[in-house]
Amino acid sequence: MANLTFYPIGTAGEKWGDAEKAAWLASTQIKRSYQDDVVTPLKAMQDELLALGLGIVQYGALSINAERYPLLAVKSLQFDSQKPTVLVTGGVHGYETSGVHGALAFLTNEALNYVQQVNLVIAVCVSPWGYETINRWNPKAIDPNRSFYVNSPAEESAALMALVASVEQGFDVHVDLHETTDSDESEFRPALSARDGTDYEEGTIPDGFYAVGDTENSIDAFQKAIIDGVSKVTHIAPADEKGEIIGSTVVQHGVINYPLKSLGLCSSVTGCIYNTTTEVYPDSPTATPAECNLAQVAAITSAIDFVLLQH
Ligand SMILES: [Zn+2]
Repeated sequence: MANLTFYPIGTAGEKWGDAEKAAWLASTQIKRSYQDDVVTPLKAMQDELLALGLGIVQYGALSINAERYPLLAVKSLQFDSQKPTVLVTGGVHGYETSGVHGALAFLTNEALNYVQQVNLVIAVCVSPWGYETINRWNPKAIDPNRSFYVNSPAEESAALMALVASVEQGFDVHVDLHETTDSDESEFRPALSARDGTDYEEGTIPDGFYAVGDTENSIDAFQKAIIDGVSKVTHIAPADEKGEIIGSTVVQHGVINYPLKSLGLCSSVTGCIYNTTTEVYPDSPTATPAECNLAQVAAITSAIDFVLLQH
């Protein structure tokens, strides 16, 4: 059913043009600091990371303010071709807070347990402007997580693709850290319908964690290992009465699949088979921010542990 209270920008049924996108950008506000929350803590960790054989690299910057938004990744200083290579991405959707802080928590608490066994590349906050303005889109009203394709219109996605391409030996594991929030229904899906001139159909937000695999190449045992690991930290989303989570068939407890590549999703960026998108639910009455971060960390460690057993 179409929602009659339409989004405040644009005309119902008409796609946004440049004026509407500019109005949307003007309506955004800085709500938190990428420098304070990400850059400063990361730099404070530099010596500990170096001791683990990890360095901080800048792989780009956002053109809206290059000084304010450097794109930072933590990378193994030496890559060992005998070891699996792991990519972790946080903050592809900048508003999904536990993705960013989960990646930082992994570096603080768990990286030391893995640096001998794997090569690491951790892009902590792919969309720092989205982090600061608590937005799903970038400043051009583009969703970076639908933009992982050649000649991407989203510079956040293009920069990450270049970082991935710079790793010659390729990747074996990719964990892309996300959240599904109540604001997806209250703000971001209505905004999407407004931007694209389509009817907004109300959906439901699942209470609990779920993981997204690849329709084209679903490794069920890998996704199950992640669900098992995360379920020790937080609850897993049940299927709804249709056997679905957000409109997709639940293929096993807590897991749905998407065609990653054709949707231009970040989890297709490496082309590796052991990839997952985590979806933490921070608005659950029982979930705390700390628990959400721990759920992200559990997803990362479970994914790596699974692949180390295969290797
Ligand atoms: Zn997301």
